[in-house]
Amino acid sequence: MKLTLAVKLGPLANQHAALLQIMERFNAACDGIAEVAFREKTANKIRLQRLVYGQIRDRFGLSSQMAIRAISKVCEAYKRDKTIRPRFRPHGAVPYDQRIMSWKAPDRVSLLTLGGREVMPYRFVEYQRARMDRIRGQADLILGRNVFYLYCTVDAPEAPAGKIQDYLGVDLGIVNLATDSDGESFGGEQVEVKRRISSHRRRNLQRKGTKACRRKLRQISGRQRRFQTDTNHCIAKRVVAKAKGSSRGIALEDLLGIRERGTVRGRQRARHANWAFGQLCSFLEYKAQCAGVPVVLVDPGNTSRTCLECGTVDKANRRSQADFRCVSCGFAAPADHDAARVIRARAVVMQPMVSDTATGP
Ligand SMILES: [Zn+2]
Repeated sequence: MKLTLAVKLGPLANQHAALLQIMERFNAACDGIAEVAFREKTANKIRLQRLVYGQIRDRFGLSSQMAIRAISKVCEAYKRDKTIRPRFRPHGAVPYDQRIMSWKAPDRVSLLTLGGREVMPYRFVEYQRARMDRIRGQADLILGRNVFYLYCTVDAPEAPAGKIQDYLGVDLGIVNLATDSDGESFGGEQVEVKRRISSHRRRNLQRKGTKACRRKLRQISGRQRRFQTDTNHCIAKRVVAKAKGSSRGIALEDLLGIRERGTVRGRQRARHANWAFGQLCSFLEYKAQCAGVPVVLVDPGNTSRTCLECGTVDKANRRSQADFRCVSCGFAAPADHDAARVIRARAVVMQPMVSDTATGP
C-alpha cells in the first residue's frame, strides 16, 4: 500500500528563496515545453527531448535532470488531453527524484536548486517517524501558504484484507469536508464559518498594518490551522471507525496523484491546492492503516459528473455545487453523495472483494 507523507521543510530565508526560484523556473520551463509539445502534437518524451532539451537548459538554466523531469511532466499532462495545451502555474509541484534529492540522517534533506544543492532541516509529526526510512524514489516539492513541503510516497505493509465485504467511498469536498457513500457528511460547515470570520478579521487587521496587527494576524492563522488539524483528526477517526465497524475498506480519490502524476484541473485543483485536503488524506490513510482497514485510491477523474445509475458522464449533471441531476436518466442526489458512491463503485471494480476462497475474477 502506498502512503503519502507531507514533510514540512524548514529552509533558511535564502534557501526558501532558492526553492521558490527553482519552483518558478521549473514551471516556466514546463510551460515553454508545453508550447512545443502542443505545436508539434507530440507527447513522446524522446522526441520532445530532442526538440527542446538544449534550448530549455540554456533558457531556464535547469540542470539536466531537472530538464528531463520537466519534459516528462509535460508529456504526462499533454497525454491526458491532446486537444488543449497544458498550462503550469508558477507554484506547481516540482518532482524530485533520487538524483536531485537526498535524505541526510537524521533530519536533513538535500535538494538541488539553481545555485546548487541546499541542505535544510525538515520536520515531521511523530507518527511519521517509523516511515521515514521507507521513503523511496520520488517526492513532490509543494508550496502551501508560503511553507514548503515534500510530499513523499512510502510503501507500507498491506493490511490484511480478508474480511472486507465492501468499500466505503469517501468524497472530500469544500462545503462538506467528507461525505461517504452511505450519505453521511462529516464536518465542514463549522470550519467554513470559522474561516470566513477569521478572513474577515484578517482583512481588517491587514488594513491597519501596525506591528500589533501583524502579531494578531499570526495568532489567528495559527489558531485556524490548529482548529482545522483537529477537525481533520476527528473526521478521519470517525470515518475509519465506521469502515472498520462495518467490515469495509475505504475508497478515496487519488488527489495527490500517487497513482498517476500530472496536472490537476478544476475541482481537483481547488482541492489539491488546499493543504487541509492533503492532511485529511494522510490522516485517513494513517488511521486506516493502524486499524487494519485497507485503503484503495481510485482515479479522481469525473467523479462529480458521473451518474451512478446509468453511467453517463456529463458536466451538466452537476447542476450546482450541491446538486447532482443526471441529464440522461434524471437520477438526482446531493452531489457529494453521488461522488462518494462513484468512488465506492470504482474501488469495487478495481479490487474485487476478497474472500478466503476467492481465486480472482
Ligand atoms: Zn443517469
